Amino acid sequence: MAAKENNAEIRELPKGYTDTPVLPGSNWRVHDIARPPPPVVKPPSFSTQETPGAPPSDAIMLFDGTGFDAWAGRDGGTPKWNLLGGEAMEVEPRTGDIHTRASFGSCQLHIEWSAPTEIYADSQGRGNSGVFLLGLYEVQVLDGYDNPTYADGLTAAIYGQHPPLVNACVVPGQWHVYDIVFESPVYRDGELATPAFMTVFHNGLLVHHRQRMQGPTQHRQLASYDNPHGPEGPLTLQDHGDRVRFRNIWIRPLARMQAP
Ligand code: MG
Repeated sequence: MAAKENNAEIRELPKGYTDTPVLPGSNWRVHDIARPPPPVVKPPSFSTQETPGAPPSDAIMLFDGTGFDAWAGRDGGTPKWNLLGGEAMEVEPRTGDIHTRASFGSCQLHIEWSAPTEIYADSQGRGNSGVFLLGLYEVQVLDGYDNPTYADGLTAAIYGQHPPLVNACVVPGQWHVYDIVFESPVYRDGELATPAFMTVFHNGLLVHHRQRMQGPTQHRQLASYDNPHGPEGPLTLQDHGDRVRFRNIWIRPLARMQAP
């Protein structure tokens, strides 16, 4: 009989069953005793406005504030963006987009950003940047706090396709959090078999619920899947000319997370 630290006895109960029905479409029984448990993962700690949190133990850390090791600029070299205080990076306008050196496909992505407090334009000219999955599918970054613009270009929009369900913006200078689940599209023999899907939380609020994407992001045009691409690509952050900041960027490839 197992005992707790205080020596109180705990009752040992069944850890599963061998005589239950088999789940449809599965090799496992209901409550199957032989079904392997999922891996144990240390969860992330939450960020505050002052301090970024820590990633979960199974994530790939893409940016913890200390350097651009995981990133490249448009010429393939070290990004010309700015490192701030060992905590954040900042767009250096007109030096170009940056992208991860590694490629990723379907994934869970966590990324935090803040918009400049200095305001010199409205609509798409305020705190504009973007998070591009596979370098192709944009979740819009924009200072959408009290800043009218077209709905499918608002903060956390799937740009040019789907407005967010709500505007969850905080004031300029405050940190925003995006938690994104991206499902990469599947092509077979050059034809689209399964489109891309995106689920997005903005500051903890659901803004896209497995939204079907119409194709890679376009500006003032219809998106389409007419140009087949591979299942993986770099994560890209946009230089749209505004000094947007990013911090605490981590990713968990979905292929690693297939439940037994
Ligand atoms: Mg943008």
